[in-house]
Order: sequence, then C-alpha cells, then structure tokens
Amino acid sequence: MTGRANLGIVWLCATALFIPGAPSLAAGNEPVRQAVAGDFPVASEVRLAGDTKQTRFILDLDKKIDIHAFLLADPYRAVIDIPQVSFRLAPDAGDNGRGLIKAFRYGLVMPGGSRIVFDLAGPAKIDKAYVLDAANGQPPRLVVELEAVDPAAFNRLLAASSSSERPKDADSPDPVVDATGSTGAAATSDSRPVVVIDPGHGGIDNGTQASTGEMEKNLVLAFAVALRDRIEQDGKYHVVMTRTDDTFIPLAERVRVARNNGAALFVSIHADALPHREGDAQGATIYTLSDKASDAEAERLAEEENKADAIGGVNLTEEPTDVADILIDLAQRETRTFSNRFARLLMSEMKTAARMHKHPLKSAGFKVLKAPDVPSVLVELGYVSNKADLRQMVSDDWRSRTVRSVAKAVEAFLAKRVGSAGPTH
Ligand code: ZN
Repeated sequence: MTGRANLGIVWLCATALFIPGAPSLAAGNEPVRQAVAGDFPVASEVRLAGDTKQTRFILDLDKKIDIHAFLLADPYRAVIDIPQVSFRLAPDAGDNGRGLIKAFRYGLVMPGGSRIVFDLAGPAKIDKAYVLDAANGQPPRLVVELEAVDPAAFNRLLAASSSSERPKDADSPDPVVDATGSTGAAATSDSRPVVVIDPGHGGIDNGTQASTGEMEKNLVLAFAVALRDRIEQDGKYHVVMTRTDDTFIPLAERVRVARNNGAALFVSIHADALPHREGDAQGATIYTLSDKASDAEAERLAEEENKADAIGGVNLTEEPTDVADILIDLAQRETRTFSNRFARLLMSEMKTAARMHKHPLKSAGFKVLKAPDVPSVLVELGYVSNKADLRQMVSDDWRSRTVRSVAKAVEAFLAKRVGSAGPTH
C-alpha cells in the first residue's frame, strides 16, 4: 500500500444539485411506471479504459452530481451512490467489462437515489472518484479510477471504510418499507389479517430477462399489483406490498416487511429463465423453504434469486444472520407446515388457470422465505426463456385469470386459518 490516503470510501461534493425534493415515485397505481425523466440528471454514455492493474470508468452526464463511493466484499464490488439519474445507455452497457471491472449494473435503489455497482475481477481500491466540469466540448463526467491491490490491502480498506463513514446503504435501518405508503399507520388500526405481496427484484436488479427484452422485475410487479387489487376488492384482508414501483429492495427488508406487519401470509412473485444450453422448461412452479433443495433445478434457482442483494450492492458481510435458537426453530417448523399447506392449495387453484411446471411443488433455501413466523411461498409464474410462457405473462387475459386463482387460494387459506386457529399473532 502506498503511503497516501487510500480510503475505501471517497466522499465528494461537487457543486451539486442533490435534488432533495425529487418527486417520489409513490403516487398512482400504474403497475409499471417509467422513472419520471423530468429534472433528473441524464447519463448518456459510458466508457471503460485500462487493464487489470488500473481501470477507469467514465460516465457522461448533463450536469454535475454528488457521488459517494465505497467497496464491498464477498464478492468484490465497488459501489457508487448518486442522486436519481435517468440512464440512457445502450441496453447491453455493463454486460461486458474491461480490466478490473468484470461487469457493472446501474439503476434505482430508492426513490431519489441511483447506484452503480461494479463486479470486480479481484481486490481493488477506488483510487479516485470524482465528477468533472464540462470542458473543451466535453460534458460533465463521472470518473472512477480503480487500482488492483492484494487481498490484505483490500480488507484493510474495507475495515477503514466501515469504521469511518458508514455507507448510505439500502440496507439501512431506515425503513424502505414505507416506500409503498401502505404500511405502518394502516396496520395499527386495521385488525384484518395482513397479506404481504412481494414482487421480486426492482430498480438496479432487473431479475431475469427475455431475449426480446421483457424484464422479470416489470412482469412480476404488474402481476403483484393486479393481485393486490383483486384481494383488496373483497375487503377482508389488508395487503401490504414490499414495492409498488421500480425500486430495489434488499431481501432482508422484504422479510422484515412481513414480520413487522405481523403478516398472516407472504407471497413472493418471480419469473424464471433457463440458460440457453439447458433446453426448455415451462410452466409455473411454487417454492417453499427447505434446508436441502428438492432437486438440482430448485437449488440453482434459489442461488440465482439469493444473488439479488449482491446485484443491488448490499453489504452482505453485515447482513444480520438469523438468530438460531430453539424457539425460532419451533415456530419455523409450524410455519413450514402452514407454508406447505398454502403451497398445495395454491397449486390446485393455479392449475385451473395457468400452465404448471411438470413438478410444480419444490423447495430450496430462498432467503426471502426465511421469516420464522410467517407462512411464505415463492411463485415462479413461468419461464421468460420459453416463448409460450412469456406470451402468457405479458397478456392481460392470462394475468387476470391467474391472479384470480391465486387470490382464491389466499382466501381459502386465510379463511381456514383465521376460522380454526384464530389469529397467529
Ligand atoms: Zn426472481
């Protein structure tokens, strides 16, 4: 390590427009909302230069912004937090890196806040991160300079950065929960059982993607919003969404929403994709939590879905581990029984409306299903890699039919639970 200040964190305040009152994306109920381009700074082009010793990232902007850069470990990542930016980059920007940058992603992590996450080829330091003024016909530019370091140096930088300024992480205790505007206050005066609907992915994390461009995060949000509306029509249950717009929500936060609301049921909505080489698969699958995956495909899928936090730039080393005591274990056992019961109910309803996978009930170690006291299932609506499945998932007709079947299963499950066992909390 050289003797100069090599902090993992670089705080820089350019003559910035931080956009304190940036319009939050909370209003309205359209399922898939484009970020309002309005007054947000625009990122128009990106370039990478350098080699595996030193790599430079340059992003063209139309105005100067504040940036906050920090490192994350396991896997090696560098993260740049910035105010909300409209990214108008080529669709494949970030897929292929260069030098120390294997790949990078960008997008919203909260209303008003965007993030760029670099997957690093190895341990590196953020040598410099700054925003340049427009000059010589060049627009303002965000520049990040990375330099390879050895693992020990990386760990020192990481330790130094976490003991000084704490990164403004999406995983902060500040609840992202209220991003939906439908939690908290409503829960106190409302004694109806709470159903938490969890559209997977969001913001910087697109989820899987069809070859024709449809993204899982949008498909599942549209489905989740329709499901909420359908369940609420009845008035018997209160629905809380983990997100209602294109915002990134860490996995632990989704679990927290279920627990904090004393949810009677948690339903996570996803869409799967099979890598090209692995042939074709089709139909909907319902997953519950288990320590050991029911088969290799379930294991692969749980691994993919559990990557969401790494994709979103969440500090995984600080993620609270589940308290493993006997009480939780007992609650968990009972919860799993209920989760499995709901999964079976859901399958028998869904198969009347949607095409199911040939083995529609599976289990694996999904992080998002780990609330010890909330029955939880994860539904993969289908495969975006399968043409027929994709055609269905984008169709209003299929969606409303399938939403009806899921709502029916939710009602059947809760009616029985509330009627026989009384409230669980
Ligand atoms: Zn997913």
